[in-house]
Amino acid sequence: MPRPAFHAASMDLDVDVLVVGAGPTGSMASKYAALGGARTLMIEKRQEIGTPVRCGEGVGKHWLAEAGVPESRAFIAHEVTRSRVFSPDGTCISFDSLGAGKSGYVVERDLFDRFLAKDAARAGAEIRIKTSATELLREEGRVVGARCQHMGEPFDVRAQVVIGADGFESQIGRWAGLTTRLRMRDVVSCLQYTLAGVDIDKDTFDFHLGTQAPGGYAWVFSKGDDLANVGIGACLAKLHDRAEVKDYLDAFIARHPELARGEVIEEVAGGVSASLPVAKSVASGLLLAGDAARLIDPISGAGILNGLLSGRWAGEAAAAAVQSKDPSEAGLLGYERRWRARMEEELARHYLIKEGLQKTDDASMNRIVRAVAESGIKDISAKAIVQVVLERCPDALQGFKGLLV
Ligand code: FAD
Repeated sequence: MPRPAFHAASMDLDVDVLVVGAGPTGSMASKYAALGGARTLMIEKRQEIGTPVRCGEGVGKHWLAEAGVPESRAFIAHEVTRSRVFSPDGTCISFDSLGAGKSGYVVERDLFDRFLAKDAARAGAEIRIKTSATELLREEGRVVGARCQHMGEPFDVRAQVVIGADGFESQIGRWAGLTTRLRMRDVVSCLQYTLAGVDIDKDTFDFHLGTQAPGGYAWVFSKGDDLANVGIGACLAKLHDRAEVKDYLDAFIARHPELARGEVIEEVAGGVSASLPVAKSVASGLLLAGDAARLIDPISGAGILNGLLSGRWAGEAAAAAVQSKDPSEAGLLGYERRWRARMEEELARHYLIKEGLQKTDDASMNRIVRAVAESGIKDISAKAIVQVVLERCPDALQGFKGLLV
C-alpha cells in the first residue's frame, strides 16, 4: 500500500482519502478505503484512540456479524441473553428468548475502538493521533482536503475525498455547508457511572422508562461479576441545565439498593442525537458517516451499528470514487443511497416513536408496558410493540396522536 506523500518543505500531505475521527465509524471507513486501494490517512484529535470512553458499551451480537467485525476476546467484557424494559411503576417486560444470534455483548469500548483502529492500520491506513482537522480546504466549491493541526503546528492534507467521522459534536458537515444542526428536543444528555460492588442480574440489558429519565431512559448493563454501567439519558429540552442529569442518575441509583451499594469507579458524560438523519450526507469531495450524519437510533441512542455500517460503506464509496476519478457529489451519491436503503425507514419510524414517548406521562407508560408484558410477545421490534399497544390500550397512545396512525 503506497503511503501518503509528504511535501518536501512542510508537513503538508497528499492522500486519496482523509478520514477525520478514529471512533468505530472512522476506523471502518479507513479500513475499507485502504482495502479499496486508496492512500488513506485517519486523524484523531485525542492522544489515545478509544479514551475517554463515552458509551454504555452495549452491542448486539448480530451487529458485529452484519458489519463484518469478528467477535474477539480482545474487546468483549460480558455476554447477555436477555433485555428487560421497566415502566415507572416497576412493571417489567422481559425478552427472554432473543435467540443465539441476537444476544448482546457489553464491550470494553476503549479496547473495541483500538481493535478497529488496528484493523484499519493492518489494511494499510496511516493513523495520526493528536491531530485535529480545523477547517476544510475547498476549491471551486469542492472539498479538497482539510487544514489540520498537530501539537500546535498547522499543516494541510489534500485529499480527493474527506470522510467526516467526527462524531456527535461533528463540525465537518457544517464546514461543508451541510445541515447538521440539532434542536434541543432532539439532543439527549447522558451521564453514566461504572459501579463496582453491585448485586444485579448479570444476564440482562435493563432499560427504565418514564419521567425518572425525562424524554429518555435509564440503563443498567452488567459488565459481569459485580460491575455494571448505570446511566441516564434525558432530553436536553426537558432539563434546566445539563448538570441536572446527575441529580436524576443519583436519584435513580438511590431508589435501587442493589445499585446503591456499589462504588463509582468511572464517570462518563456525553450527548447523543435523537433526531432524523441528516438530509444530505454527501457533497463534492465529502462524505459524512456515523454520529456525524446523525445515524444514531432515536429511541435507544445506540449508534455503534450504524457507525460501523456507514463507516464501511463510506470507505468503500470513497475508494471507488478515487479509482473512477470521480469524487464529485454525483460520484459519491451511491453511499447515501446505500445507508438510506438499510437504515432510513427504521430511523424515521423510531424517531416518531421517540417523539410520542417524550409526550407520554408515567401513568400511560405504565399501561403501555403492562399491555406489552401481558401480551407475551417475543418480537421486540418497535413495530410489533406498537401493534400490541394499539390493540390493547390505544388511549395510552395519546402522546403519539398524529404520529403513528
Ligand atoms: P465517535 O465514537 O464519537 O468518534 C468520533 C471521533 O472523532 C472521536 O474520537 C473524536 O475525538 C474525533 N474527532 C472529533 N472532531 C475531530 C476533529 N476535528 N479532528 C480529529 N478528530 C476529531 N451506542 C451504542 O451502540 N451502544 C451503547 O451502549 C451506547 N451508549 C452510549 C452512552 C453514552 C453516555 C453516549 C454519549 C453514547 C452512547 N452510544 C452508544 C452512542 C455511541 O457511543 C456512538 O454512536 C458511537 O461512538 C459513534 O461512533 P462514531 O465513530 O461515529 O463517533
